Amino acid sequence: MSIKDFIYQLHQSETTGHALDHLERVEKFALSILETEPTANHELTMVIVLLHEMFDDKLGFDISEDEVRDLLSNHDFETKEIETILYTINHMSYSKNLEKRYPLSLEGQIAQDADRLDAIGALGIARAFYYGGAVGHPLYSNEKARTELSGTDYRQNNTCINHFYEKLFNIKALMNTQKGIELAQEKHAFMVQFVQQFESEVSQTFGEI
Ligand code: ADP
Repeated sequence: MSIKDFIYQLHQSETTGHALDHLERVEKFALSILETEPTANHELTMVIVLLHEMFDDKLGFDISEDEVRDLLSNHDFETKEIETILYTINHMSYSKNLEKRYPLSLEGQIAQDADRLDAIGALGIARAFYYGGAVGHPLYSNEKARTELSGTDYRQNNTCINHFYEKLFNIKALMNTQKGIELAQEKHAFMVQFVQQFESEVSQTFGEI
C-alpha cells in the first residue's frame, strides 16, 4: 500500500476537523508553495504533509514511531531522511512551538505553512467551530483569552472564540515562506472581520465578551 493510501485510510474517520479534506487542502497549499521554492525536496515535503498529524495528541492515531519508520523504509526512504521526517512531524505543530520555536528544514517550513494556512480564513473559522463542537467547547464566555500559554495551558478547555486570540490571529506573523506570507494575508483579514462581527452581535445581545 502507498504511504498516501495508508495515511488517507487513517484520516478517513477523523471527526474534529482533521479528516481527509484537511489533508487534501494541506497538500494543495504545499504544492502551491513548492512552486515558489525550487530548492525544496518535493517528495520529502509531501511525505511530511501526509504524516504531519500522526502523533498529534488530540487525534490519538494508534501508530508508533517505529511503525512510521517501517512504513518509510519500505518506501525506500533512507535512515537519515526518516529521522528528519520524524523530527519534523514531532516539532512542527503550533502547540509544540509555544514555549520555544524549533528550527525546521525548508521542507518542514513549507509543510508547517501549508498546515497553518488551513487553520485560518473561512475554512479555519469553520474548523475552529467544528473542533470546538466535537470536544464540547462553548462558543464564547466572558472569560478573557489567555496570553503567554504553555503547551499544557493550551490544551485546557477553552471557548471557540478565544481560540482565535490564542492561536489563529498569531499565525500570519509566524509564516515561514514568502508564498505562505502572501496566502495568509487575505485569510487573516477575513478572520478579523468575522470576529469583530461576532463580538458585535454578542455584545448587542448580552453585553461585552
Ligand atoms: P497544532 O496541531 O498545530 O498544535 P492545534 O492543536 O491548534 O494545532 O489544532 C489544529 C486545529 O484544530 C486548529 O487550527 C483548530 O481548527 C482546531 N483547534 C484546536 N484547538 C482548538 C480550540 N481550543 N478551539 C477551537 N479549535 C481548536
